[in-house]
Amino acid sequence: MIIIFIPRIIAAFTLTASNRYMHHKMYRLMAFIFQKELSGKWIFLFSGVFIFLYFWQFVLKKKEKPPEKARDRILDHVALKGLRGIGGTAVLVVIVLNAGLFIDGIANEPKGPNVVFVCIETLRSDHLGSYGYNRNTSPFIDQLAEESVIFERAYATSSWTLPSVHSMMTSLYQSSHGVINENHRLDPSFNTFAELMKNRGYQTSGFIAAPFLETFYGFNQGYDLYDESLSSSEHPLSHKSITSPELTKSVISWLRENHKRKFFLFLQFWDPHYDYIPPPPYDTQFDPDYSGDIDGTEIEGSQKINPRMNPRDLEHLLALYDGEIRWTDMHFGKIIEALRTMGLFEDTILVVVGDHGDEFLDHGGSTHKKTLYDEVIHVPLIIKIPRTRESPRITTAVSTVDILPTVLDLLKMKPPAAIDGTSLIGILRGQETRRPEHVYSELAPNLTASIGSQWKAIFNSDINTFELFDVKNDPQERMNKIVAPDKGGKDEINNLKNRLRRRVPFNAPRIEKNEWLEKKLKSLGYIK
Ligand SMILES: [Zn+2]
Repeated sequence: MIIIFIPRIIAAFTLTASNRYMHHKMYRLMAFIFQKELSGKWIFLFSGVFIFLYFWQFVLKKKEKPPEKARDRILDHVALKGLRGIGGTAVLVVIVLNAGLFIDGIANEPKGPNVVFVCIETLRSDHLGSYGYNRNTSPFIDQLAEESVIFERAYATSSWTLPSVHSMMTSLYQSSHGVINENHRLDPSFNTFAELMKNRGYQTSGFIAAPFLETFYGFNQGYDLYDESLSSSEHPLSHKSITSPELTKSVISWLRENHKRKFFLFLQFWDPHYDYIPPPPYDTQFDPDYSGDIDGTEIEGSQKINPRMNPRDLEHLLALYDGEIRWTDMHFGKIIEALRTMGLFEDTILVVVGDHGDEFLDHGGSTHKKTLYDEVIHVPLIIKIPRTRESPRITTAVSTVDILPTVLDLLKMKPPAAIDGTSLIGILRGQETRRPEHVYSELAPNLTASIGSQWKAIFNSDINTFELFDVKNDPQERMNKIVAPDKGGKDEINNLKNRLRRRVPFNAPRIEKNEWLEKKLKSLGYIK
């Protein structure tokens, strides 16, 4: 603590020791600096310009009277005439202040591990080897899972990207952060994951490759670097884009240049999202003999995918989706390899999560953002804790809002006060926890689900109807038990009713009309 404050005390002392006029000005500057509203590079830039302009006057003023004061004569003698008088004192103050800030920066360097947060688009948990899938879709994720905590029942807070990822980044359910559709952005008053890490002294970087995670929606809040070049107007993204190679390249080159300072790194792989068009050899890996006309394109609004379709075609569609996962997993493996090569793997908390799943006629439909059945909200969640080799499998229902407080707990950081998530470390350690027994998922404007240890209830406000599933014994949600629920089922329904009654939806700021965005959403088929 003393080490942190010594440079500040030196800086403050130097400032107050200078003349009154400078004192007043510099005191304000100091307050400005220590509120940390300006990043270090701006302070250095500002100071650099100030010092340059000061010394420049001596270049312009070539002829001067000889100095009268002895101190100034000495400074002249040692070729430091720029440091004499009031201006010279100010320059010295700035130099000392910068030195103080520099030492302050070193003293504030976080001691905890790095954090790498990997979000994979449209990833169903039941299509990963580590979650029991029969195809080898995820060898690299599975390898990580062997030395990580596996949350077998993790739920996304919604069945599409925008609200779901905001929930992970704020630990707030959709109704709490209020970004319920593409007309809203995150209210800047919320603390984001990146912001909390930045305030702790981490460098924060985000790399995204998908629509809905742009600065436009407030996702850049708290990042020193937020690279959305794979999702910008210069690089019009469509469902046909394949972005994992470029994303992986950017992330690895960033790691190479920046890994010496502690970091929080967020990256989002896009490719498992439809269209299902994995590059060779992954396009034929899981179904080499198919000869029909399903090619994985034009999925949005496709009439081809319907309950009457040829089962062989559906089988092929799933093989293509699995190929996308295998392709993405290969790139994920490259990032893990880079972390190992740079000696960072052991000292890094790694989170791997899906933002939602996808439906393949499980309940008669396709894609996502339509229902809250498990195929679209039951996601993989794997957390690697530094320097452990244990891989417990946790069967408690957890939510992606729990990720943020869990990571903060591992870093011994306090979570923000008003969040919906709770740390999962207590469960891991087998300790009694006060975490809620139910987690929630929401899809505006009409669907809300409550998920407990055995039951899952879904309310549809459009038709004022509940559905109830015994997800422990019927994980595919085939049998709606709403007509004759047992006690556990009734409790789940009552819990959901309470939630609906108590929930106070937050009104997130609306975004202004944006022609580029409209064009992009239209090209993606999200709006008509
Ligand atoms: Zn998504």
